[in-house]
Amino acid sequence: MNSGITTIAFDADDTLWVNEPYFQAAEQQFCILLEDYLPQHAVSQELFKTEMQNLHLYGYGVKGFILCMIETIGRVSGETASLQLVNKAIALGRELLQKPIELLPGVKSTLECLREKYRLVVATKGDLLDQERKLKKSGLEPFFHHIEIMSDKKRGDYEKLLNHLDCQPENFLMVGNSIKSDIMPVLELGGFAAHVPYHVTWTHEQYDNTLQHPQFMELNTIDAVLEHLEDSRK
Ligand SMILES: [Mg+2]
Repeated sequence: MNSGITTIAFDADDTLWVNEPYFQAAEQQFCILLEDYLPQHAVSQELFKTEMQNLHLYGYGVKGFILCMIETIGRVSGETASLQLVNKAIALGRELLQKPIELLPGVKSTLECLREKYRLVVATKGDLLDQERKLKKSGLEPFFHHIEIMSDKKRGDYEKLLNHLDCQPENFLMVGNSIKSDIMPVLELGGFAAHVPYHVTWTHEQYDNTLQHPQFMELNTIDAVLEHLEDSRK
């Protein structure tokens, strides 16, 4: 890897801490709530459809997820579901907003090693207040020079982030679990990207091809980034 890297940005959900399993568990509960109207897998498809239709309006995060559950209840039940059912869906969302923060293995020690030599940044999507809450609870805040909560992670969004950080793409490394959101836009810009896969990925973020790029590295665990950076300095 290039030794000109000065700034390392980390995705947060499912890179620094557990997120998607909580969403999937909430979704499963939601599908059970609507079982009287549709089989669970069909409810799941309906919910995903609603989420995709609203993504450009609601963005990413729990609040949009709650609104999408409510809209799906209306559609699936032909507007006949009780307010009690709606309240149960809201409760599932509220529960998500109060989940404990479970750091992924190796995160803290990796950040501890990197903070000496690099400027560390968080670059995440999601609801502002919720991501702030998670960062605070995680105890990781002191490691970061800058926290960017982004409405999307497209090429233009990274461009803005790099401008803000006054950083050239060739000095930038992004670490994350989503090939689509954390890796591809950064490579397009000429930056470096390290993929740390997580065992579950939201359908919207799934990517099935293999990626080959001179500035891309596939890591098994987050701490493997240390070896790559170390090698580049020899
Ligand atoms: Mg992620």
